[in-house]
Amino acid sequence: PYDVLVVGGGPAGAAAAIYAARKGIRTGVVAERFGGQVSDTMAIENFISVKATDGPKLVAGLEQHVLDYDVDLMKTQKAVRLEKKEFVEIELENGALLKSKTVILATGARWREMNVPGEQEYRGKGVAYCPHCDGPLFKGKKTAVIGGGNSGIEAAIDLAGIVEHVTVLEFGDTLRADDVLVKKANSLPNVTIIKNAMTTEVLGDGQRVVGLKYTDRITDESHLVEVAGIFVQIGLVPNSEFLKDTLELSNRGEILIDQHAQTSIPGVFAAGDVTTTPYKQIIISMGGGATAALGAFDYLIRN
Ligand code: FAD
Repeated sequence: PYDVLVVGGGPAGAAAAIYAARKGIRTGVVAERFGGQVSDTMAIENFISVKATDGPKLVAGLEQHVLDYDVDLMKTQKAVRLEKKEFVEIELENGALLKSKTVILATGARWREMNVPGEQEYRGKGVAYCPHCDGPLFKGKKTAVIGGGNSGIEAAIDLAGIVEHVTVLEFGDTLRADDVLVKKANSLPNVTIIKNAMTTEVLGDGQRVVGLKYTDRITDESHLVEVAGIFVQIGLVPNSEFLKDTLELSNRGEILIDQHAQTSIPGVFAAGDVTTTPYKQIIISMGGGATAALGAFDYLIRN
């Protein structure tokens, strides 16, 4: 068996693998798609000490760093089941069974998408999901935020300080965000909030986003909003479906962890976007991965 088996090859999984391998213990990584969300990222400007990089570069760096150590890297392998017996067992989609004394779950998350025409085509060309990451790319331009929950209204307030104007489109007839956030957003001169708005299409010129179309759900009229950027803020879905009924998840499906990154199953740790850790970012996921590996090592020397 492995001493530490990491499930997931994003920043959290890579950091966990490096920290574990540096302890000289038997370490494996199973990743459906090595690199995770970073692979889909164009500009990264908040990875501290690296002024600017892009996703593919950072992913190549992660892989080189992991392979610098004696780590079994199993790419394009998907975990479908976890069970704690004498060892923790991870079953892969191809039927293989991996055993390990400890497991670190770092399967990340995915942004919920609008599923409208143009969204995929202009992803990274105006369609964005992370205001902390991509907000500054739209400095002085008009943008829209899709979704009037906490993350949408926070995004609008955040963007209002950077961009020329923000239009928030909320599907329902009320905003689901906290009152204090709604008040703040309403007080900003360059934020417009439109309710009962169903986004129907992302418009582009072949290169970049130029606007969007929405239908007013009350009047059934279609409207056009000219924007250069569209921030989709309708939820982050943790990749934890295969863990349901196995360990404790929050009501949003995030893995509950303690300060040492241990889950509700002793010997099973978790890190990054799949956990309840607030603020989903690369640097935060890496810190989580390091914590989980040190937590697992601590567990190993005590058991
Ligand atoms: P992920 O990156 O999601 O990686 C999860 C890993 O687990 C992947 O390897 C995946 O294939 C694997 N996996 C999932 N399920 C299974 C399974 N069942 N079996 C095996 N493997 C599995 N953050 C920043 O700090 N700065 C930015 O500029 C930035 N820009 C972003 C831009 C975009 C478009 C997106 C989508 C995100 C951006 N983020 C940014 C957020 C950042 O990418 C995430 O916070 C970070 O990648 C989370 O790392 P993670 O390792 O927890 O998960």
